[in-house]
Amino acid sequence: MFDKILIANRGEIALRILRAAKELGIATVAVHSTADSEAMHVKLADESVCIGPPAARDSYLNIPSLLAACEITGADAVHPGYGFLSENARFAEILGEHNIAFIGPRPEHIRIMGDKIEAKRTAVRLGIPCVPGSPGAVSDDAEALRIGAEIGYPVLVKAAAGGGGRGMKVAHTAEELPGAISTAKAEAKAAFGDDAVYLEKYLQKPRHIEIQVLADGQGRAIHLGERDCSLQRRHQKIWEEGPSPALNAEQREEIGGIVARAMAELRYIGVGTVEFLYEDGRFYFIEMNTRIQVEHPVTEMITGIDLVNEQIKIAAGSPLTIAQEDVRITGAAIECRVNAEHARTFTPSPGRIAYYHPPGGLGVRVDSAVYQGYVIPPFYDSLVGKLIVHGRSRTEALMRLRRALDEFIVDGVETTLPLFRTLVRNTDIQNGQYDIHWLEEFLAAEAKDEK
Ligand code: ADP
Repeated sequence: MFDKILIANRGEIALRILRAAKELGIATVAVHSTADSEAMHVKLADESVCIGPPAARDSYLNIPSLLAACEITGADAVHPGYGFLSENARFAEILGEHNIAFIGPRPEHIRIMGDKIEAKRTAVRLGIPCVPGSPGAVSDDAEALRIGAEIGYPVLVKAAAGGGGRGMKVAHTAEELPGAISTAKAEAKAAFGDDAVYLEKYLQKPRHIEIQVLADGQGRAIHLGERDCSLQRRHQKIWEEGPSPALNAEQREEIGGIVARAMAELRYIGVGTVEFLYEDGRFYFIEMNTRIQVEHPVTEMITGIDLVNEQIKIAAGSPLTIAQEDVRITGAAIECRVNAEHARTFTPSPGRIAYYHPPGGLGVRVDSAVYQGYVIPPFYDSLVGKLIVHGRSRTEALMRLRRALDEFIVDGVETTLPLFRTLVRNTDIQNGQYDIHWLEEFLAAEAKDEK
């Protein structure tokens, strides 16, 4: 097992990792920018190192500084969390060259899944169902038009290097396709420095359903059921739940089994999420995330498995000790990402938290790194915390969420809590009837009513 883990992240996920490490009896090192010297993860770690000024590229993304911090503290492993360097294959490689373990998959797997075209090719090879589309990058308009006619409109143009929904454009007709391609290319070039794009059939009313996997790189892999992350704004998930209101046990076992077998064959190591769009009873692979995800607590609540604990043990070379038969999905869990943003306009609202009272009680979990008097810096994401509830049924989870949201007080900054209080009382949400466009349509209708 590792002696000392350096956590190359900040905020609630740094705290989440720190908690898992402490429970395993492993010493922790926090790193922080000058803007984060008063952060909770710094206060709770055994040691801390300042790695640079506020801008992420000079601190949390600064590989030489992180290496120096490992050297100074003698850390023998690095946990990257999510975001920042978590899906940077080169970082994983460099750590390896310095005999420091990267708590995550092999660099080659990060690389494959980081390139969406390569990822899709791999998925096809492993028998994972994919969205019909171009077999690789499209080279010219003539080829694109030929494929468009084959798969049928609307067609989605996607950036191979894509992320965060950037570099995506819909073409409703063949006439719109060349324009959509050039816009997507320009956006992709600007955002990722790579203008390769590919085509996919645009699904009209899908849900976003993702499968959580755990694998040990020694041929053992299991799935831990799904999370439904269909409630999104600008392709950002804001409410995640499991099990999905749209799936039954048989469908779960089928898709979960396909994914677990694929990960075993790939000799994948650690935690991973295989994301699908789901429409009319069919699954379509969109991408794989090779790291712990923001919404992982949903899975922890319904399975009772500590994903970060498992992730650390696997990275240290332990074989997977949980068999597929041991995984039991119990009840239902819902996570709300509470941001320091105006609940209507979503403009960020950094600043000092004047008063903070998180909810509690049975089945309520708050993963947050803020405290009363803490100043949310303007340099990073605006997450105040994640509220996760668990109930014996989805109905119980919804009622629990409703009361937990009513207890939650954050003063001094604007938050998205009022939005969640509205959502939890909405009939479509209560009935589980929503797709990936539901939230945007709901927000647009609300804005119109106000005028
Ligand atoms: P990114 O890496 O930029 O987040 P994804 O491939 O994960 O890109 O897609 C992000 C979101 O875009 C999905 O959650 C879904 O809402 C939408 N999307 C992606 N592919 C399709 C598709 N073929 N049809 C319809 N919507 C899609």
